Amino acid sequence: MKLLEDRIRREGKILPGPVLKVSSFLNHQMDPALIMEMGREIGRLFAGEPVTKVLTIESSGIAVALCAGYALGVPVLFAKKHRTSNVSGNLYQTMVHSYTHGTDYTVVVEREFLKAEDRVLIVDDFLANGKAVEGLLDLIHQAGAEAAGAAIAVEKAFQEGGRLLRSKGLRVESLARIERMDENGIVFAGE
Ligand code: 5GP
Repeated sequence: MKLLEDRIRREGKILPGPVLKVSSFLNHQMDPALIMEMGREIGRLFAGEPVTKVLTIESSGIAVALCAGYALGVPVLFAKKHRTSNVSGNLYQTMVHSYTHGTDYTVVVEREFLKAEDRVLIVDDFLANGKAVEGLLDLIHQAGAEAAGAAIAVEKAFQEGGRLLRSKGLRVESLARIERMDENGIVFAGE
């Protein structure tokens, strides 16, 4: 998605990790017009799929997920971060390793919002090693539901998440795929 790539190139900051900081339009301050357009694009990509629900993870995926859910006309559910792994029986829970913080945390969704008949589209802001998406897949499987695919705003294609998830047969679509980012700048797929 050219609009997103241009914005990343103009305003993205490369930090050690490597982490791409996009706090001016996605991860802290948010640009509604751009994010709405991203949601529309995800809607176009998955228009042929019988998606019943969008699932994301708190908190940075929520804006993109909301716009994707709006475009697809389906509810948006976000897995909530939970203080302890000792949670009650009306929840599905899973552990996720945070790429940006380097720690593990528990996320939960209430069972009443994820049902066996759901076909769930996973949406997130970034894909690095795939742990966040794997956690969401785990919640979907616990519910007996099916994953329709994953829509990611920014895939760092030089990390293993995309390859790993696609090799499991999951459809993964990214709006911007970064092949390389370093002191010389950012190279997107196809450049
Ligand atoms: P993964 O679970 O695929 O290793 O990492 C994806 C998650 O970590 C995303 O939910 C995102 O919040 C965070 N993340 C990973 N890489 C980056 C990055 O380069 N920039 C930002 N802002 N977040 C990232």
